[in-house]
Amino acid sequence: MSLIAIDLDGTLLNHQNEISKENISAIKHAQDNGIEVVISTGRAYFDVKNICKKAELSTFVIGTNGATIHSKDDKQIDSTMIDKSSVLSILQWLDEREYYYEVFTDKAIYALKKRRDHFHNEIQSLKNSNLDEEMKEIVHEAERQFDQFGYVLVENYHDILNKEENFYNILACSFDQEKLIKAKEHIQSLDSVMAVSSAEHNIEITNSNTSKGIALEKLAVLLNCSLNRSMAIGDSENDISMMKKVGYSIAMGNAKDEIKEICTATTLTNDKNGVAHAIYLYLENIVIQK
Ligand code: CA
Repeated sequence: MSLIAIDLDGTLLNHQNEISKENISAIKHAQDNGIEVVISTGRAYFDVKNICKKAELSTFVIGTNGATIHSKDDKQIDSTMIDKSSVLSILQWLDEREYYYEVFTDKAIYALKKRRDHFHNEIQSLKNSNLDEEMKEIVHEAERQFDQFGYVLVENYHDILNKEENFYNILACSFDQEKLIKAKEHIQSLDSVMAVSSAEHNIEITNSNTSKGIALEKLAVLLNCSLNRSMAIGDSENDISMMKKVGYSIAMGNAKDEIKEICTATTLTNDKNGVAHAIYLYLENIVIQK
C-alpha cells in the first residue's frame, strides 16, 4: 500500500482558501483505489478538521508540522510536545523583542490581543501601500493566517503558560526578514526545539524531534505503507522533510525554485488544481508499475 501526503496552504487550498471540487474528487478517487491520503500541515488539527468537514473529506491528518497525527475517525495516534520550560523561555524571548506570535496547543491557538491587533494593522497598511508582486503574495499569506479556526485571545504570555495543555507549536511572524532570521538563529541555538518556515513571514517552532517527514514515516510504519511508492506534495520549506522521505516528491507550480529543485517533478499551481493533476499522474504511474 502507499500514501499520498498533501500540504494545505499554497498546495491543496487555493487563493480563496478553499479545496476545489477537482481536488476533492481526485483525493476520493485515490482513496477508492486503495491509497491512504494524509493531509500534512502546519495548521492545528481542529482547524484542519473544520476545513475537511466543509469539503466532506475524511483523511489522516499530520498537524502542527508533525507534532500530531490523527486517524480518519478523529483519534490521536501520536503527539510530540514542546516541554513547558522551553515554551516559557521562547515566549519570554519573543515577547521582549515584540514579535507577533501564536501558540498552538491541543485545545486552541493562543495569541496576545494587542499584538494581534498590531499585526493586523500592519497588514492593512501594507495592503494600502505600493507593493511589488512578491510582497503582495507575502501579505496575502499573512492575512490568510487570520482565517484559522480556534483562536483564543489573551492579555499576556503568562495566560498561555498557565494552561494545562499540550504545547505543540509556536509560530512567530514578522515582515522584517532580519528579525525573522534572528529568531531562527536563536531557536537553532536551543537544544530541544527547531524551526522551519511555511511562508516568507513566519517561522514555526516545534520539538526538535518533530517534522512532517518524521510524522509521515511513523504513519507509514503504522499502516504498513511503502514510502518508496508514496507521494508528497507541497510548496514550502516545512515540506522538505516529507519530500525527502518519499519516492515521488511533487512541488507545486507556485513553489519557490529551491523547493522545485529538490523534487521529482513540479505540478500545476494551487489555483489550477495542481494536487488533482499530480494525483492522476501518480495513479497512472502506480498502475503502470503493477
Ligand atoms: Ca504550504
